[in-house]
Amino acid sequence: MNAKPISRRGLMLVLSSPSGAGKTTISRRLLDRDPGITMSVSVTTRPMRPGEQPGVDYYFVDLPEFDRMAEQGELLEHARVFGNCYGTPRSTVEQALGAGRDVLFDIDWQGTQQLAANARNDLVSVFVLPPSGTELERRLHTRAQDSAEVIAQRMAKASDEISHWAEYDYVIVNNDVDESVTAVQAILRAERLRRTRQVGLPAFVQSVQAAL
Ligand code: 5GP
Repeated sequence: MNAKPISRRGLMLVLSSPSGAGKTTISRRLLDRDPGITMSVSVTTRPMRPGEQPGVDYYFVDLPEFDRMAEQGELLEHARVFGNCYGTPRSTVEQALGAGRDVLFDIDWQGTQQLAANARNDLVSVFVLPPSGTELERRLHTRAQDSAEVIAQRMAKASDEISHWAEYDYVIVNNDVDESVTAVQAILRAERLRRTRQVGLPAFVQSVQAAL
């Protein structure tokens, strides 16, 4: 007999890191490997970069629209990063969680703190560290997309972001992308089995006991 899966509430998996630590690559591979998790697409006021697609990488909005969304409570969290505004649209995330689907977030420490304050039970947070400071610096310089000024800002922001590592549930040093993705998958697998997340568990246990 094929057992029916026990229903559960979705979880919010947050990946944070300084720019250049490899978080975006880890996120993409995780999404490829695990059909049970979907990416939360943020809204931002920053300009679109070459190769980015609206609605896929971000929803690109102007500042008045961003402010309107924030004021009307349409954002689950929001923050200013590198002089631009970023935020997580609330409705898509809440729908997914309610339907038992997991959601992946690529957000900074400010957003993670807000999610932790408002939805701690649904949150699993992972901080990705670079293999070393010099490697991080090298990666930031080889990224062709940004101006020298932006790179300098990111270097300054990197140490600020790293200073929040201890606020996260899990920490991964990204020496090897494949290993890091496997580590995130292991975290996800274990967190899905948390007793408190499996809302169908009491009914299931009752059915097991009823047969005894
Ligand atoms: P980028 O401009 O390089 O795409 O992102 C810059 C930083 O903003 C990254 O650290 C990223 O994690 C963060 N970020 C992206 N979307 C959001 C969001 O919706 N909320 C918050 N708090 N940070 C975000």
